[in-house]
Amino acid sequence: MENKISLLGAGIHNVTMEEAMTVIDSFVAEGGLHQVITLNAEILYQAQENQRLLRLINKADLVTPDGSGIVWGANYLGMPLKERVSGIDLLWEICRVAPEKGWRIYLLGAAPGVAEQAAANLKIKYEGISIAGVRNGYFDMSSQEEVQSIVEEVRQAQADILFIAMGAPRQEYFIEDYGKEFGVKVAIGVGGSFDVVAGVVKRAPVFMQKMGIEWLWRLLCQPSRWKRMMNLPRFVRLVKKTKKKQGS
Ligand code: UDP
Repeated sequence: MENKISLLGAGIHNVTMEEAMTVIDSFVAEGGLHQVITLNAEILYQAQENQRLLRLINKADLVTPDGSGIVWGANYLGMPLKERVSGIDLLWEICRVAPEKGWRIYLLGAAPGVAEQAAANLKIKYEGISIAGVRNGYFDMSSQEEVQSIVEEVRQAQADILFIAMGAPRQEYFIEDYGKEFGVKVAIGVGGSFDVVAGVVKRAPVFMQKMGIEWLWRLLCQPSRWKRMMNLPRFVRLVKKTKKKQGS
């Protein structure tokens, strides 16, 4: 599965949602850990100054274009991507097919109570879904004891797919550090998705998603995001600079 483009040093798979699902299906069948990253422009910009993060992205088994910024950047540099495959949409799609595939799902992340509510909502929406376990994402990462007890909790649950919603890149580092110990076949970082599934945060209206301005909705709902969102105009500037260099 090597239909990849390279954007600002990061490999991104040029897949549709359907193709991403076929790949994930093969990961589960194959066994062993597979890391999936749903990459947005903020994180890709951050990776320009963070070698660990860039390396991690390039090592992942599947990297999907999560944000419209990535789709725009790739297109602008002459490498059009088929479509945006966001973390939240991937979560919905995996949970939709999970009952018929028999995939066991673990939800790790978000504030206390949110993963439980997300699991309850998923059980109503997708009858027969098997939720292997849930756990909030607020723990002391520097405490080996606490981390090990969470790793053990996940391992005991014998899940196939682990969604981690602790924000990027924290969740990606967590998967890199402990992924193999979880005993899951697929681990995916899905940012703030549990908040949406639980109904704590509302997703942008479809017209905003289609216009590529979901970031504006998130900024309006959570103004405290402005600081990290400064990476978006920086990303645009960097893509434009890259194009100029290509032309010269
Ligand atoms: N979160 C968490 N543990 C932490 C910090 C954050 O579980 O130590 C959760 C937080 O409650 C939220 C999600 O991680 O549900 C981060 O959401 P955000 O929208 O910031 O995700 P991103 O945009 O980084 O993908």
